[in-house]
Amino acid sequence: MPTLTRSASNGHAMPQDVEEIFGQNTFGLAEMKSRLPKSVYKKITATIEKGEPFDETVADAVALAMKEWAVERGATHYTHWFQPLTGRTAEKHDSFITPNAGGGAVAEFSGKSLVQGEPDASSFPGGGLRATFEARGYTAYDPTSPAFIVEHNGTATLVIPTAFASWTGEALDHKIPLLRSMEALNVQATRALSILGDSVGRVYATCGSEQEYFLVDEAYFEDRPDLLVAGRTLIGAAPPRGQEFDDHYFGSIPERIMAYMNAVETELYRLGVPVMTRHNEVAPGQYEIAPLFENANVAADHQQVMMMTLQRVAKRYGLACLLHEKPFAGINGSGKHVNWSMSTDTGLNLLEPGDTPHSNLRFLFFCTAVVQAVHTHQDLLRAAIATAANDHRLGANEAPPAIISIFLGDQLSDVYEQITASGKATESKQSGFLGLGTPVLPTLPRHAGDRNRTSPFAFTGNKFEFRAVGSSQSVSFPLTVLNTIVAEAIDDLASKLEDKLGKKRSKKAVESAVEEVITDSIREHTKIIFNGDGYSEAWHKEAVEERGLLNLTTTPDALATLTDEKNIAVFDAYDVLTAPELESRKEILSEQYALTLNVEAATTESLAKTMVLPAALRYLAEIGEAAEVAEDLGLDGSGTKETAEVVITQVNALRKALGTLVKARTAAHKAKDESVAMKDKVIPAMTKVREACDALEQEVPADLWPLPTYRDMLFTG
Ligand code: ADP
Ligand code: MG
Repeated sequence: MPTLTRSASNGHAMPQDVEEIFGQNTFGLAEMKSRLPKSVYKKITATIEKGEPFDETVADAVALAMKEWAVERGATHYTHWFQPLTGRTAEKHDSFITPNAGGGAVAEFSGKSLVQGEPDASSFPGGGLRATFEARGYTAYDPTSPAFIVEHNGTATLVIPTAFASWTGEALDHKIPLLRSMEALNVQATRALSILGDSVGRVYATCGSEQEYFLVDEAYFEDRPDLLVAGRTLIGAAPPRGQEFDDHYFGSIPERIMAYMNAVETELYRLGVPVMTRHNEVAPGQYEIAPLFENANVAADHQQVMMMTLQRVAKRYGLACLLHEKPFAGINGSGKHVNWSMSTDTGLNLLEPGDTPHSNLRFLFFCTAVVQAVHTHQDLLRAAIATAANDHRLGANEAPPAIISIFLGDQLSDVYEQITASGKATESKQSGFLGLGTPVLPTLPRHAGDRNRTSPFAFTGNKFEFRAVGSSQSVSFPLTVLNTIVAEAIDDLASKLEDKLGKKRSKKAVESAVEEVITDSIREHTKIIFNGDGYSEAWHKEAVEERGLLNLTTTPDALATLTDEKNIAVFDAYDVLTAPELESRKEILSEQYALTLNVEAATTESLAKTMVLPAALRYLAEIGEAAEVAEDLGLDGSGTKETAEVVITQVNALRKALGTLVKARTAAHKAKDESVAMKDKVIPAMTKVREACDALEQEVPADLWPLPTYRDMLFTG
């Protein structure tokens, strides 16, 4: 067994003065203001804050200031940082130092190097957008997301958030469509607001994403080839104690973990990521970190920074951070709740209902648009979170089901019921206060609605929470889908308003037009609203059979819908993704699904063959020796024989299951649709191998078992 370093002392991080360190390592507005000429600062903030076109004449000045700032902080290299369609991030480091003709070297970083980079696009998935020999790709500076410095083992690198496109201008990344979708949402929402009588400059999609993760001892992690290669345990028997005591959630945080969390938070503060919450999660070894919400594009970049930081800092504490959606079978998986709303540049949250939502027509208008969008495009939301890893959560009895529905809570559901019944809502249920039955405790104001953990898409007071997103995923594509489909719904409702109103804009006329428009929409889309238990079988039946909702339980099912005509149309209409760009995403996601399963199956085979079977055979040899002893001594050897029989039976079962798995995997490579073959044949075959291995784990002596067990890994302190 590996040696463990269970101490909090390596790099013990003390909480720091957040105000002093926050954003220290980012080239944000304050730095720009102090370092840039006034006219340049004005131009760049017009792009950052108002979405105005980037004025390339300021590039040299921005580059110079950025470089000076970075070099002062010890940076020797810079990198364009982008989000290729792998869902991860990519970087290519260049030195600031350029040799000159005189044999010396100068630190150089021009506007051109800031604005454009040229990584080899053929090494990233293109999904048929270009052939491998068409290698040219470009990265383009995204001024709306601040550049930052990453410090690592005494080195410092300036990291510049960029978009990534092919030579032909097609988006090869997740950032370009996200930015395009934010623009579409901005255009439609400001248009609707102006009809409603609110004039605003800009509307932003906002996002705050709660990240769940597991921590295990790094030494155990390294002794598990499956965790190393596939990110999850492919075999492993359930521990005698799992999460049944419900005692880990919000439990007190162990010392080493606390030190780790402090270190992560300190780094994130310095990088300008506004982390806010930390706590234990439901499963043993599981934790959560959540930032304050931000503009969705910045939030998506920060989400990636957060995942990188969680993993990087873990090593310092002898830990490994598992971001996989389902690292341990039978134990809760990890998700990423994507909280989403729309805010104006005047600071208005468009999904803020106030105390009396029934009379808040602006809120009802935008909330109805979300309901309409989610009902119309359930398939797109499901496809946006479809990965092999997330399939272990969705539909299994823990995470939200694969059926997309909306939880609205008591108060809002009641308002919508009034609207559906009579075309008008006249009151909002109030929940008053909660007395706790003793005068010494304060009286608590009760929320207008309870929570519902089983819903994949829930209204939580002044935002929607998309809970089905996977923990290791980039939030960009789910956000892109949300922004786009809501833009379409707002467009639809706004056009209907305009038709009804003609030139009229009196308060009264607008109010009654809004009432009519949302009544029609809600009557049509109310089927998506569900406040009950999303895990129950009754719901699965009702959702599909009575309400006609989709239940796309697997990734291949979900991805098959991605390029349906309606979906191509919505992305195209709002200039978010062209048909070929959407097609390429489908292809890449399917390919990644098949690749993931191939790696998992191959690793399962190798674990079974090279670790589990040999351990079982060694055990059999020992049993054989014991049997000889019994015989030599003329004692009853029946117990030994029975034990041998059990082990041999399991060994035979394992060999058989392995044979089936190898065949299934080979056949899948030749199948017409490899992902479907993986889903239908390889996954069940892997499950059989796992069952046989897990049965052996419970027989083979602990000292012969070659892998750290669930019990070892899950109770890391
Ligand atoms: P919960 O509702 O899950 O208990 P919080 O209300 O604290 O927790 O919020 C969870 C996440 O939602 C946080 O990241 C928070 O910043 C984010 N959030 C809050 N308001 C908004 C908003 N208007 N838009 C997007 N995200 C938001
Ligand atoms: Mg939440």
